[in-house]
Amino acid sequence: MPTTLPGPTLGVVGGGQLGRMLAEAAGPLGVDVVVLDPTPDCPASAVCRDQLVADFDDQEAIRELAERVDFLTFEIELADQTALNEVSEATGVPCHPDPATLELIHDKLHQKRALADEGIPVPEFRAVETADELRDAIDELGAPAMLKARTGGYDGRGNVPVESREEADAAIDAVAGPAMLEEFVDYEREVSVIAVKGDDEVATFPVGENVHEEEILRETVVPARSSDAVLEEAKAVAEDVLDLMVGRGVYGIELFETREGEILVNEIAPRPHNSGHWTIEGSLTSQFEQHARAVLGWPLGATDLRSPTVSKNILGSGDESRPAELTGVDAVLSTRGAAMHWYGKREVRPLRKMGHVTRVATDDESTDELLSATRDLVAELDFE
Ligand code: ADP
Repeated sequence: MPTTLPGPTLGVVGGGQLGRMLAEAAGPLGVDVVVLDPTPDCPASAVCRDQLVADFDDQEAIRELAERVDFLTFEIELADQTALNEVSEATGVPCHPDPATLELIHDKLHQKRALADEGIPVPEFRAVETADELRDAIDELGAPAMLKARTGGYDGRGNVPVESREEADAAIDAVAGPAMLEEFVDYEREVSVIAVKGDDEVATFPVGENVHEEEILRETVVPARSSDAVLEEAKAVAEDVLDLMVGRGVYGIELFETREGEILVNEIAPRPHNSGHWTIEGSLTSQFEQHARAVLGWPLGATDLRSPTVSKNILGSGDESRPAELTGVDAVLSTRGAAMHWYGKREVRPLRKMGHVTRVATDDESTDELLSATRDLVAELDFE
């Protein structure tokens, strides 16, 4: 594998924080990044070679992107699989993961069916379109249960908890479209595995434990505070999931650990994942560097944990949009083992992901101590 000058160029559909951190990781490998994103000055634009300002499904713009790069990838699930596929075939520029994977993942019902067909453990689910079908599904799966829009949901938007049959009409109206009902998993904890599919190798990062509030990820604690048997099972399930995925790249695999110590797959993201941001400081290779290596078909890096690590999202506060001005950053910068990540979004909006803070253990801190110290640190941060 010769090192070339100029090095290869990676075209990324999406230029949010994931594209930004991908470009930051690609730089040291000599890989340039060009992103396509509809928002001028998107978060990635400050750290990548160029940005094409266009919609994610603008086929002409995707073709223009392909003509400027050696490999295509995407950092958002909204990327248009048909456009990516057509452009990749017409130009001969490979796209990883394969756009077919996006298609598999796009519809939560198809995704769950594909997993279940392979014998991968998932919560019980039923397809539902009408209130009558929903009532039948509640009779079978019990209540409470979670009604999920099949497409378009993220950060819990599109999910409607259903407490009883009586709520069926309102719940169907609320999801407004084809949906699936899922048994309510009374989980012990949520965990995730960031898994990587390389050219002829795979890798998994240590299992992270994820704390959600209002269905939005707040914190990831690594290693997850599960038993060794559960950690092994999570890794094994993640490897089975990778078998199903077509194309190289990083996949974020969200899992439930049930009270009985069983692992169930919640959902898969065919891209670097918020619950893998800890890898930037906490692992020998970050998920973003792995994604660049994998997409290019280069050898993968080691995924060992450097030391216990916690990362916590900085979410927008208040009720309205305003220019993003954060105070209290000095506390993070002056804390040993703490790292600040600011995504460069101009506007803060309620619960918008604006950045994150990571802390790696520098002494013998336990994950519990690290978590509480990180919470204290992030509590110092505030938006004007
Ligand atoms: P999104 O695609 O919007 O991120 P998810 O389906 O991952 O939505 O759900 C978001 C969160 O909602 C999960 O992290 C979990 O906390 C909760 N959740 C989702 N499905 C279930 C379920 N079947 N049982 C219990 N909680 C669930």
